[in-house]
This record gives sequence, structure tokens and C-alpha cells, in this order.
Amino acid sequence: MYANGKVALVTGAAQGIGRAMVEELLNKGAALAMVDQNRIAGEQCKASLDEKFGSNRTLFIQCDVTDQEQLRDAFQRTVKHFGRLDILVNNAGVNNEKDWEKTIEVNLISVIRGTYIGLELMNKKNGGQGGVIINISSLAGLTPAAYQPVYSASKHGVIGFTRSIAAMASIGNYGVRVNTVCPAFVDTPLLESIDKEENMGEYFQYKDNIKDMMKLFGILDPSLIAQGLVRLIEDETANGAVMKITTSRGIHFEEFSAQQRTKV
Ligand code: NAD
Repeated sequence: MYANGKVALVTGAAQGIGRAMVEELLNKGAALAMVDQNRIAGEQCKASLDEKFGSNRTLFIQCDVTDQEQLRDAFQRTVKHFGRLDILVNNAGVNNEKDWEKTIEVNLISVIRGTYIGLELMNKKNGGQGGVIINISSLAGLTPAAYQPVYSASKHGVIGFTRSIAAMASIGNYGVRVNTVCPAFVDTPLLESIDKEENMGEYFQYKDNIKDMMKLFGILDPSLIAQGLVRLIEDETANGAVMKITTSRGIHFEEFSAQQRTKV
């Protein structure tokens, strides 16, 4: 599927990776709803994108993705405004080991809920026109992260859910592909959370260890994650894919053994 002429909804769109994805989707000809809880950043982001792309290509919707009603309303407003939904990117995420329940709520529960609402709208079995869903995980969803155990758990959950619902979408002929992207460290405001006790809690004392890892592995530009996203949207064969993005290998895929693949 090509993004040109399609309608997308991106959560966590006001800054960082979400914003880079929005810009890339606009470059590819999509129209989209930018969903974020941060009204000021969201409106500033829309205003600067309007200068380049025109005001009718985007809609900013303030929404806390952990609020079921607000999230459902954001989807309904998107479809009402643009007439359809083809691409959903569940990207909003936080790094908070102190309020770790919130991390599970934003990073995992809201991704699951967003996927289900997206499927209600796009599933061909429900009268939808098909589409593609991309859930943003992390390399911390594939490996242990000693200083971010709950963040790691939330991102492992995103991969497990995405691979499973992708298998179901295929079995059920939903006409919807579901994939995940796992970036290494990316240059966004999220990285500032490492330096905050209110985010890191008992792991704050290990912040320098995380910074050493950043030096070792390097930090990616958000635009590369946006390029990975577009690849997954355009590749009609990609379903249940786990795309990894690192400084050493760029965009590549996690290979699973036969035992780790779909069991129906
Ligand atoms: P960021 O903090 O720069 O941006 C996240 C955006 O999500 C913000 O605009 C924020 O307002 C929004 N958001 C947070 N909670 C929300 C909520 N409850 N409702 C609505 N919006 C909410 O972070 P980022 O680095 O761009 O992260 C985007 C995604 O990429 C996250 O899922 C993150 O876990 C993942 N990721 C980031 C990195 C990294 O190193 N930056 C690496 C791997 C994966």
C-alpha cells in the first residue's frame, strides 16, 4: 500500500519519533490525524507543518491515549473529518519506572486498545476497507533492560501482541496487516527521562550506565525510524514483522526460528 492519498492516525505525534513519522507520511502524500496529550506541542507542530504542507492535510486532536473515551473519540473524529482510516501508528510511549503502572497503561494497554479500535474500523469483515497498523516497540522489547524492567516488559508485550494479532488478521482475512518497529536509542525528548529521578525511581542511580550504553551503541535520528515505518506500510508482504533499527545495521528484521513462529 502506498501512503499517497491515504488517511493515517498517529499517536504521540507532537514530537520525537511520532513527529518524524507524521512528516514522512505527509511527504508521501497522506493526510493524517496527529493525536497527542500535549496540546501546546501538538498545535506548534501542526502550525509548522501547515507552512510546508497546507492546513488541510493534518488534524490535531488532543487526547490521552489511556482514556478509553478520548481514544475512541479521536478515531471517530478522524474518520468524520477525513472520511476513512487506512494507516494507524500506535506510537505514544513513556519511560517511567517509578510510576510503572502508567508505563504499562500507555505503552501496552493503549496500544492494544488502539489496535482493536483500528481493526473495528479497517477490518474487511466489519465492512472496512483494510489497512495497516504499526505498533512501536523498542529493542528493549527483544532484550532485557536491567535499568528499565517495566519499560522492557511493556515493549515485549507489544511484540507478543502484534505478532499474535497479525496471525489472527491473516487467518481471519481481515485485510489488515499489523507490524512492529523496534528502534535502538533515538534522539528525542524521551531520552531526557533517564536523567530524572521522577522517571527512573530506584534505577536513577544507574543513569550513567545507560548513558555509557548510548555512547557505545550511538543514537539514531528519528527520520530513520520514519523511513522504516514507510517501508512496512508499502511492503504488502509484511505482516507480523518485527523491524529492528540500529546504528550498526540500520533497518533490518528480527529472524525467528520455526519454534518461535506462529502456532495456531
Ligand atoms: P517522546 O517523549 O519524544 O514523544 C512521545 C510523545 O507521546 C509525546 O509527544 C507525548 O506527549 C506523547 N504521549 C505520551 N503519553 C501520552 C498519552 N498518555 N496520551 C497521548 N500522548 C502521549 O518519545 P519518542 O522517543 O518519540 O517515543 C515514541 C515511541 O518510540 C515510544 O513508544 C517510545 O517508547 C519508542 N521508542 C523510543 C526510543 C528512544 O530512544 N527515543 C527508542 C525505542 C522506542
